[in-house]
Amino acid sequence: MEAYLAELNDAQRAPVLQKEGPMIVIAGAGSGKTRVLTYRIAYLMDQGVDPFNILSLTFTNKAAREMKQRISKIVGSSEAKNLWMGTFHSVFAKILRFEGDKLGYPSNFTIYDSQDSQSVIRAIIKDFRLDKDVYKYKQVHNRISSYKNSLITVKAYFQNPELQEADAMSKKPRLGEIYKEYVDRCFKAGAMDFDDLLLKTNELLNRFPEVLQKYQNRFKYILVDEYQDTNHSQYLIVRALSDKFQNICVVGDDAQSIYAFRGANINNILNFQKDYDDVQMYRLEQNYRSTRNIVNAANSIIDKNQTKLDKIVWTANDDGPKIIVNRLLTDGEEGRYVASSIFENKMQNQMNNGDFAILYRTNAQSRAMEDALRKKDIPYRIYGGLSFYQRKEIKDVLAYLRLILNPKDEEALKRVINYPSRGIGQTTMDRLAVAANQHKRSIFEVIENLDKLDLKINRGTQTKLENFVNMIRSFAIMNETSDAFQVAETVTRKTGLVQELKKDGTPEGIARIENIEELLNGIRDFVEGQKELADATGSLSEFLEDVALATDLDKDTGDDDRVALMTIHLAKGLEFPFVYIVGLEEDLFPSAMSMNTRSELEEERRLFYVALTRAEKQAYLTYTLSRYRWGKLVDAEPSRFIEEIDDQYLDLMVPQDDYKYKPMIDTDIFGDEVDKSKLRQTKPKKGTPPPAHKPSEEQLRKLRKLKPAAQEPEKARNTIELIEGNEVEHMRFGKGKVLKIEGIGQDKKAEIDFEEGGIKNLLLRFAKLKVL
Ligand code: ATP
Ligand code: MG
Repeated sequence: MEAYLAELNDAQRAPVLQKEGPMIVIAGAGSGKTRVLTYRIAYLMDQGVDPFNILSLTFTNKAAREMKQRISKIVGSSEAKNLWMGTFHSVFAKILRFEGDKLGYPSNFTIYDSQDSQSVIRAIIKDFRLDKDVYKYKQVHNRISSYKNSLITVKAYFQNPELQEADAMSKKPRLGEIYKEYVDRCFKAGAMDFDDLLLKTNELLNRFPEVLQKYQNRFKYILVDEYQDTNHSQYLIVRALSDKFQNICVVGDDAQSIYAFRGANINNILNFQKDYDDVQMYRLEQNYRSTRNIVNAANSIIDKNQTKLDKIVWTANDDGPKIIVNRLLTDGEEGRYVASSIFENKMQNQMNNGDFAILYRTNAQSRAMEDALRKKDIPYRIYGGLSFYQRKEIKDVLAYLRLILNPKDEEALKRVINYPSRGIGQTTMDRLAVAANQHKRSIFEVIENLDKLDLKINRGTQTKLENFVNMIRSFAIMNETSDAFQVAETVTRKTGLVQELKKDGTPEGIARIENIEELLNGIRDFVEGQKELADATGSLSEFLEDVALATDLDKDTGDDDRVALMTIHLAKGLEFPFVYIVGLEEDLFPSAMSMNTRSELEEERRLFYVALTRAEKQAYLTYTLSRYRWGKLVDAEPSRFIEEIDDQYLDLMVPQDDYKYKPMIDTDIFGDEVDKSKLRQTKPKKGTPPPAHKPSEEQLRKLRKLKPAAQEPEKARNTIELIEGNEVEHMRFGKGKVLKIEGIGQDKKAEIDFEEGGIKNLLLRFAKLKVL
């Protein structure tokens, strides 16, 4: 037996060794499903299967890269590079580049991100003169997206009275028309949105039998990770491609299905056995990731769900410490607790920053965590939220680059035709848009033919438009013989983008220039990496595709050591020694929006199961008594999920007046010692004394009723009112200038540039400042 096969247990080895036929591995978290896929691919290659014939679909491109690395280590060859591996979107975008012309798309079609899609939808709602409070563009976008993922095309929509009725009932009778217009505009712009990448692949495989055959023959072996979260569109692609050879291996865990809100269909996993003949079903039961306490606690949670497959998960690992549950007063304090705990754990256990993850239900929760980590000088990285590529200045550069490849890309054109300012106004743009519509041409083409049209655009403006078009054309010519870096570098110089920001001169402007530099560095790295590959050249089109489909995790090169902050949805499949799950409060987690039906609540519970099972050694759960939400301080109650965990796995830090957990004092940043006891005395907790261990159900009920008295603002110790630009003096840091004021009430803080201390963020209620 090959040595690497000994790195699997018997149950894991079985699906690896079964070379042919359909198979499904259903197993709980941390039991080695992803490992099975990885080793299975290595084994297939070992058996002489050409990597070009293996297609493996993963949840992130990062996961695919890591799998490839692991495989090349196991089979000891660089052949792993030739595997078809990545997310559904990235793999099929590549195929659509080859085949999209059959559907009328240019090979250099643009991929619209959700911002682009939403901007198109907003424009349509405006052009149709609809009420934007009824037709909310994000809602409309979600609706269209769900149609596409269910393969409901515009035509299918208009053939289905029920759908039209449903939209009419929700006061959006014109949704179908918007859908149609949206599809038309994207098509005219030579653009596909994310959902199109799947929808059009389906269309391609359905309408062109020869194309289907070609890819069926190419992908003789297909593997899918996280199968429980495939949507209908993805499901159909996998079915079609695997139909001929039926060498399909899917792995998943119904208990980790968390994307139903985006159309994932848990039935795909439940029905797999009906979809293929002679399906081999494998189960894995041993968890290698987590301590016994974590595994058992996770089991006790998922047990509460009615809809589930019966599974056993056990571990031979140590019991490990119990899960720590802590109650804090506010989200600010929650952040400080987490930051201090990370700091202590690092010191006590010699851990790296990268060994810690903070997981939350909503992106908005990251702010309090960030503030606290910054104050403790703990490096962190936020995943999700506004990613690098969505920043304004980056999108501006990318828009120029997109336009070079695809001048029909209307979103890109609108973004940069007058940025930096060229004196091309809205009236001109409106005239161009009308003409484009009339002649069924793109705006770019209209400008190219200005002299033949009479658009009442004055001579001066015409020249400006022509100059713009000529500039883009000159870039396109350059692009024929240059790589992505050379083109991008020229674009940032010649368009005046950087000069514009330099003129601006504000710190934000400078930060933007740095971001653009960072982008150029990134492009250079990318080009160098691509040039090592056999079938790539580092061209602009390769780069733009990579960017369009980069998931947030993909930019994590893992080369610097940071605490990871992300939503639980993003954490799927990952693992960390220490995991903090914060904001375990009713209406936040479970989310207020997901408590209407049992199935929604069960999805929230699965989400909690996913969160907890990311932890290897120690898990922390925190909740607060009040937190800022939508700019208001609201009372919070502990999440029912805490209650649902079996007592014996929990270690409850009791939020009594004599708090048991160690206080966290950060003198440096507050500029003073935080007087914790005083802070606490201001919150009298009369009535039920909090229990020393996990509260009984009755106690918890009482606890929930017992809400803290209305949050009276604590007496600010420093009542000075600061405004930006104030000159101030601090006892220790000396003189400084106020750069920014943020937050309100208790959380109000100032960013101050001290002559001696540099830039500091001070919480005003603690900072002893004198206005000069
Ligand atoms: P999830 O459901 O969270 O995606 P998973 O089932 O995919 O989990 P893996 O990530 O493959 O589980 O494995 C969990 C951890 O256990 C990994 O660190 C993996 O390397 C380790 N592991 C799995 N199987 C073994 C084994 N037989 N021997 C040693 N370590 C193992
Ligand atoms: Mg996995």
